Amino acid sequence: MKKDEKKELRSESSRPDHTINSPEPGPYRLHIVHLYPDLLNLYGDRGNIQCLRMRCKWRGIEAQVTECNLNDRLSLASADIVLLGGGSDREQQIVCTRLQKVRPELHDYVEDSGTLLAICGGYQLLGHYYDTSEGRMEGLSLVNLYTKQGSPRLISNIVLRNETIPELKTLEIVGFENHGGRTYIGDNMPFGRVVHGYGNNGKDACEGVLYRNVIGTYLHGPLLPKNPHVCDYLLQKALDRKYGVRLSSFPALDDSLETNANRAIAARYS
Ligand code: GLN
Repeated sequence: MKKDEKKELRSESSRPDHTINSPEPGPYRLHIVHLYPDLLNLYGDRGNIQCLRMRCKWRGIEAQVTECNLNDRLSLASADIVLLGGGSDREQQIVCTRLQKVRPELHDYVEDSGTLLAICGGYQLLGHYYDTSEGRMEGLSLVNLYTKQGSPRLISNIVLRNETIPELKTLEIVGFENHGGRTYIGDNMPFGRVVHGYGNNGKDACEGVLYRNVIGTYLHGPLLPKNPHVCDYLLQKALDRKYGVRLSSFPALDDSLETNANRAIAARYS
């Protein structure tokens, strides 16, 4: 048995009754592309991939994951969900140079309503630029935003509220942030309003960005396991685009553990 299979069995066996029904894998299949996990995987951003996979699997949706490392050829032709994680400024610079070459592919994917989750360094690269003391890092200009380095670093547990998007209003969004960059999103919709923590720039109470089916956010590491409603929002967007099917037509998941953990943290900081 491969190492990954062992890991997966362990996580499945710890939640044997997670679904009300245990469906056989059906005709639905989502292709998740993890961009540059060799460089952008700060604080375990990879946990988001695991969460997407398992929430698909528990519903009988097949999830295929492709890791695209720095020197791999990128094709988003069959992609349904793309993840771009976070990294230090140095790693971000390396990825930035590479991303410029694949910008048209990413731009077309986003404008064709592709689902994309970009975290911290990845979030900053969605915008026009990131100015640091070392100079300017050109972004992808996929979303109208920009970032400037500031001091001190903004490090905190963070709680957000989104009162606009039905799927996101059901729970608060909890996480952890650690960034030097201050991001300005202009007229774009934020991912959430800051209840506790700093958010995009520590001033305007906005955190992250929502643009088409893109979420950009500073919330690091296992964002999706802590916020199952955000995971399902992404899955719903991908299913809408590919099949026009509602997530609610799949077996309901028992999220009581995740929901209780989320509420406990939200209560601690609100
Ligand atoms: N380099 C960026 C910053 O510090 C992002 C770092 C990160 O991904 N944590 O603002």
